[in-house]
Amino acid sequence: MTNLVGKPPAEIQRELAPYCDRPFRSRQVAHWIVQRHATSFDEMTNLPADLRRRLQRLFTIHDPELVESTASGDGARKFLFALDDGASVEGVAMPEDRKLTLCLSSQAGCALGCRFCVTGVLGAGRNLRPDEIVGQYRVMLQVSGGDSERVNIVFMGMGEPLLNTDHLGTALDVLGERVSPKRITVSTAGILPGIRWLAARERRPKLAISLNAPDQERRAEIMPISRRYPLDELMREVRSFPLERGRRVTFEYVLIRGFNDAAADASLLVRLLAGIPSKVNVIPLNEDPDHLAGWRPPEPETVDRFGRALAEAGLTVTVRWSRGRDVAAACGQLKGRRLRDVSIAPTHAGPS
Ligand code: SAH
Ligand code: SF4
Repeated sequence: MTNLVGKPPAEIQRELAPYCDRPFRSRQVAHWIVQRHATSFDEMTNLPADLRRRLQRLFTIHDPELVESTASGDGARKFLFALDDGASVEGVAMPEDRKLTLCLSSQAGCALGCRFCVTGVLGAGRNLRPDEIVGQYRVMLQVSGGDSERVNIVFMGMGEPLLNTDHLGTALDVLGERVSPKRITVSTAGILPGIRWLAARERRPKLAISLNAPDQERRAEIMPISRRYPLDELMREVRSFPLERGRRVTFEYVLIRGFNDAAADASLLVRLLAGIPSKVNVIPLNEDPDHLAGWRPPEPETVDRFGRALAEAGLTVTVRWSRGRDVAAACGQLKGRRLRDVSIAPTHAGPS
């Protein structure tokens, strides 16, 4: 059966047209699914019951299965989703003032192997389909009781979104029906062709770059992708990225004790970002003794000093202690545990 989640309205209408006697019926269904986040045909009360029954036999409205959700003391909530083929991904919902930020995964793992990142350490995973990307948004919004008017979406979960541009593009089209592109941020480790792809999009989301080191040598040490796409080329690409009025490029800088946290590193960073309308997110490394043995965040005073040095040099800085530390739910610290690690009843017998 065809899943209607993750399809743009025009495509839903095309799919349904042969089964609806009047064109506005398929428009209504598309509206229910994309705009109103309907999860079943039963909700579509303005549709005749016989049409609903017919569509139910032909189409599904299927989101990734929510296996577990864990609240943390600071209000962040981590979600573990099971995908149909047994892969699993995580998302995070973070309420902030009257807004809700949803952190989505784009792949069920990550092949880029950044050494400070649990997802990277655990290794590659397949690209998520548009329904699996949009489905995370639908489920987290519903569970959080959020209002899509006040949602921010960040692609800072598992995976490298710009290595999944086909499906990301469709997901952005669908999400863009409800959420303005200025409230959607795509974070990348620096995939140059992907950044060019994003730059060429008509309804462009915001760009975030995971920088994490102030020079090429150290960046390549912790982010192997920097050998393929070196820092100077990355910065050149970012400088030519088209920015709508008032927009800035976000730079994420994970602070690692004794590695990239010196006063001299703050100065290098200031020089690197000179002239770019930017916002720097300083993120003290989120520890994980199981997967990131030996990697530590700096002392809080060092974090403060680093952030202050950037601010004093005129940069816009936020120090972002990863949300949901007590449940290791930090966006960017996601594992997508294998389902066998989670106590749910299997729906079919596996190999013995
Ligand atoms: N692959 C994309 C998006 C997902 S990673 C990217 O790299 O941008 C999202 C963010 O999580 C990145 O900025 C990364 O630097 C951050 N991150 C990864 N591991 C982390 C850790 N251990 N502590 C804090 N932030 C981390
Ligand atoms: Fe992949 Fe981003 Fe983690 Fe690097 S930081 S391994 S690119 S998810």
